[in-house]
Amino acid sequence: MGYTAGMSRLSERLRPFGTNIFTRITALANQHKAVNLSQGFPDFDGPEFIKDAASEAMRVHHNQYAPMAGVPELRRAIAERFTRRTGLACNADTDVTVTCGCTEAIPATVMGMCNPGDEVILFEPFFDIHRSAIVLAGCVPVAVTLRPPAAAPGEQTDRPWTFDEAALRAAFTGKTKAIVINTPHNPTGKVFSRQELGLIAELCIKHDVVAICDDVYERLIFEDDMPHVALATLPGMAERTVTLSSMGKAFSYTGWKIGWAVAPAELTACVRAAHQFLTFSVATPLQYGTVAGLQREEEAVGPLVAMLRANRDLLAPVLRELGMTVYFPPSGYFIMTDISGMNRGDDVAFVQKLIEEVGVAAIPCSAFYTVPERGRTQVRFAFCKKPETVVAGIERLRAGLGRR
Ligand code: GLN
Repeated sequence: MGYTAGMSRLSERLRPFGTNIFTRITALANQHKAVNLSQGFPDFDGPEFIKDAASEAMRVHHNQYAPMAGVPELRRAIAERFTRRTGLACNADTDVTVTCGCTEAIPATVMGMCNPGDEVILFEPFFDIHRSAIVLAGCVPVAVTLRPPAAAPGEQTDRPWTFDEAALRAAFTGKTKAIVINTPHNPTGKVFSRQELGLIAELCIKHDVVAICDDVYERLIFEDDMPHVALATLPGMAERTVTLSSMGKAFSYTGWKIGWAVAPAELTACVRAAHQFLTFSVATPLQYGTVAGLQREEEAVGPLVAMLRANRDLLAPVLRELGMTVYFPPSGYFIMTDISGMNRGDDVAFVQKLIEEVGVAAIPCSAFYTVPERGRTQVRFAFCKKPETVVAGIERLRAGLGRR
């Protein structure tokens, strides 16, 4: 399945991609009525007061185009939040752009700052849009591979995924224009340490490179000793960092597609130069709903984090019991596993059977690498679901994969 088959008019630039993995797997999951632990979206709604605020905005006629950069109330709320979280100054008029999810903010930033042929560094495994955004802008993605911690087949480890310092240093060349960092990281749940970010900062400064930080999972950290560090707060980085985030993950409204880019005025001007022609502006009533969410953010986030942590703790031991190596995540929506001890084929074959025969959907992670072979033994399970959905998935996994 994929757009490429029989699509002779498809542009060359899009040919290598086919249909994205989330669309493919969710379609297959629906077809087989599988419990969907693949695509990262909650199967529940976020807080009612956020919905109420959006409905009210719709009722009182906030239904026309929003200003290109976002409604002033939301830009103010985002600027205040950014300052609260980072201690950095942020001007709501010149430093904030509201985008159609973080998903639009990434290409808007790359297109706004990079020329065709420029190199953009990213870590793999990556959330697929990070790479496609780079390619669609005519730039060249340069991947630095995150390595899983050592673990025997069927073991669980909470040690972090790491990257090779020399590999990162070598990735920076005279052509590097930007680097994309995603912390907390999808799909591994890695929270980049201050030390790792320090190295990234050193290299960005040395090579005059812009950092594009996708921080959409910043509120979903389960371990107190792993705080989210915003790269912009490191010395010399505020002026060269574009910090991206969104309301979808923190408030469980991924379908609202409200994200934002925060950066100093000079960089924001570049982001807006692209954003004005990509989507121009973002759904007005949903921006007002997001204002309400940001005003009561802690109240929304606390229970969500508790629920996600409990789901993670429920699912991880079961995956391990079934023979997977479990990379216990400190954050996010997902558990990364390695299936090489299970003798059930590669990631794609494994997931296909999992959906068709076991009735559970997951994501084959070869889709998250520049060289798919690197992810052939990795499978990602989402736990951002109702506890009963996770339990239903567990029952099917045990029935279908359990050792009899
Ligand atoms: N971020 C979600 C995930 O990683 C998917 C978003 C999408 O479907 N593009 O599963």
